[in-house]
Amino acid sequence: MTHISRDNSQQFASDNYSGICPEVWAAMAEANHGHATAYGDDPWTQRASDLFREVFEADCEVFFAFNGTAANSLALASLCQSYHSVICSNTAHVETDECGAPEFFSNGSKLLTAPTQDGKLTSDAIRALATSRKDIHFPKPRAVTITQSTETGRVYRVDEIAALSETCRELGLHLHMDGARFSNALLGAGCTAAEMTWKAGVEVLCFGGTKNGMAIGEAIVFFDHALARDFDYRCKQAGQLASKMRFLSSPWIGMLETGAWRRNAEHANTCARHLCTAIQGLQHAQIMFPVEANAVFLLTDEGRLQQLRERGWRFYTFIGGGARFMFAWDTDLARVDQLSRDIRDIMA
Ligand SMILES: *Cc1c(COP(=O)(O)O)cnc(C)c1O
Repeated sequence: MTHISRDNSQQFASDNYSGICPEVWAAMAEANHGHATAYGDDPWTQRASDLFREVFEADCEVFFAFNGTAANSLALASLCQSYHSVICSNTAHVETDECGAPEFFSNGSKLLTAPTQDGKLTSDAIRALATSRKDIHFPKPRAVTITQSTETGRVYRVDEIAALSETCRELGLHLHMDGARFSNALLGAGCTAAEMTWKAGVEVLCFGGTKNGMAIGEAIVFFDHALARDFDYRCKQAGQLASKMRFLSSPWIGMLETGAWRRNAEHANTCARHLCTAIQGLQHAQIMFPVEANAVFLLTDEGRLQQLRERGWRFYTFIGGGARFMFAWDTDLARVDQLSRDIRDIMA
């Protein structure tokens, strides 16, 4: 086979720079024997779905999609008619990074964005948007989506989610959770998967596998069977039904059965806390948000960001102009130490 030359030094611009964790790789290899029925009617898909029901301690319905954009968009489309609207934070991935897919797959449901300081939606913000208009000329609010952990690396506590869902119930809104980093949030919060979702009033969860150590794949978890009606057709029509489904579902067996999903998230979160601790009290930079999951955001001037780039570091600055560092299941702590030394050199 052709040898592809590569630079093996880790970068922390995104947690999806990482590869596939060994438990997932092994589960895919295990599934790669012989033939199996296509389109999800196979024992791996059955087993993976059962594992979700164990993890969530609920009789939930589970679907598998190739990526988070599809999972979020199809989940929101299942909650809305085309004349409805969805309330989200102004920094929400569905608003800023999905190329209009939620609107596209819902045939036009409009996203209503709430300004937020730190990416977290509040009951007041939801209420303000949901009650801003009552007339026929405005798309009727029908759902709220929250990101757990947020795009700013923050985690909604269980009591905060319960308060949001109480507001949603009062206003007749469904509650969806974009859990692209659900595992990181869960380990950050130290509660159970059930407590963070259906027990707090979340009706649909998009559970991210990719950033936590899978090659591809997100699971859509419905805690209310009525909302899942015909969702299989929606997935198929959107090009999200894998014919060799066992390779989309078996990675979840590797994750959930071995506990890798928790270990991976815990490691990524530990790396973020490690960097945060190492760069406290800098004179020329501040950590922008409390570090509660696997992200660290560092605010400084453009000159110092450029110096960091010149030392070979890659990062994005799309949230508030700060440098974002994201850690993954395989992050090397020695490499995090190199980063923190360079940051201190430039910003102390
Ligand atoms: C990465 C991510 C997604 C999924 O993105 P895809 O590239 O479509 O897989 C969804 N929501 C959030 C908050 C993300 O960070």
